[in-house]
Amino acid sequence: MSVAAPITQDVHTIPRKLPDGPANLVGMTRDAMRAALIEAGVAEKQAKMRVGQIWQWIYQWGVRDFDAMTNLGKSLRADLSDRFVIEIPEVVSKQVSEDGTRKYLVRIAGGHEVEVVYIPEEGRGTLCVSSQVGCTLTCSFCHTGTQKLVRNLTSAEIIGQVMMARDDLGEWPEHGTRTQDARLLSNIVLMGMGEPLYNFENVRDAMKIAMDPEGIQLSRRRITLSTSGVVPEIARTAQEIGCQLAVSFHATTDDVRDTLVPINKRWNIAELLEALRSYPKVSNSERITFEYVMLNGVNDTDEDAHRLLKLIDGIPAKINLIPFNEWPGAPYKRSSNNRIHAFADIIHKGGYSSPVRKPRGEDIMAACGQLKSATERARKSRRQIEADAGIANA
Ligand code: SAH
Ligand code: SF4
Repeated sequence: MSVAAPITQDVHTIPRKLPDGPANLVGMTRDAMRAALIEAGVAEKQAKMRVGQIWQWIYQWGVRDFDAMTNLGKSLRADLSDRFVIEIPEVVSKQVSEDGTRKYLVRIAGGHEVEVVYIPEEGRGTLCVSSQVGCTLTCSFCHTGTQKLVRNLTSAEIIGQVMMARDDLGEWPEHGTRTQDARLLSNIVLMGMGEPLYNFENVRDAMKIAMDPEGIQLSRRRITLSTSGVVPEIARTAQEIGCQLAVSFHATTDDVRDTLVPINKRWNIAELLEALRSYPKVSNSERITFEYVMLNGVNDTDEDAHRLLKLIDGIPAKINLIPFNEWPGAPYKRSSNNRIHAFADIIHKGGYSSPVRKPRGEDIMAACGQLKSATERARKSRRQIEADAGIANA
């Protein structure tokens, strides 16, 4: 009998309050901010009101400077700037695709870098946010999964990606006004680097901030969390976040799913489906998105499509077919367009919506599952440049 490789989540999260520095107000829940203000000397009776004021400055109007917070007294502002910072990740580079997709490389504490992608569409815009540096899981078709270094992002670093994008899009409403309905950044998908359910608390706190009615104000229906299938956290996601759920399904037998999405060895298809069945009711969301990457000759037959229909029977679902995005050295090929459409047709006739995801930002390597390669390549070329110039360390 073979023993499944252990699936670990031995990643670390840096503490919110660095031992020798001021604490970052960004990423704190309202309760945590209240406690921090009381510790800083704000009277208990006033703390809730102060949180409300500071919250609005930070999340409604995008202000990062305590001095601009004119409804706080001067001495309070000085105290706050002694003890706290309002910090988001720093943008290292930005690339804009021919189709308008923007890819940002941002630097977080420790010098790590993660990628964030903004995808403009007709009447809306989606931000693809990362939850970890790299990923502990090793899905065989995903380039992020081949990255060795992994660390959880803090809630500040997760919501900070949204704030960074709003900065770049120039989308903070003027002080005293509220966000308009038609937004450039109207949706968030947790589909960047990392497995969001292996960083549950930070993802939850960040998404709660994104949904808070006195700030960024995104409806929970406009936030989609994608998981590879961390079964024990699915019920919690419904209860504590309540956003839309997408699941990286990708196969219709355990044998194939074991090789594509190795977390399947820990929680198999039957266990995953059981957890998914109760999700829409508990979270009061409409339907679950099943992501299905189309890999030539691996998971794309008519039989697969029919098996998929049987498996999801009774679950309110949409099947999102993702043409495989190739990366250098990838062990798979993308299914042909004909194959993808034949597959989509069977699903559609079975009564489910089966959109084929249009790859966006391909010219800047911003498509799903490609996020590692661009950064690594940039690093390599920097190294190469240094080597060519004879300045590499011996
Ligand atoms: N870790 C989470 C979310 C990040 S990946 C998850 O796995 O769900 C976001 C989506 O992109 C997932 O459905 C993932 O399976 C898919 N993906 C990864 N690599 C891909 C590639 N090379 N081509 C197409 N889709 C890919
Ligand atoms: Fe991690 Fe998702 Fe990539 Fe799998 S597909 S390695 S879970 S980021």
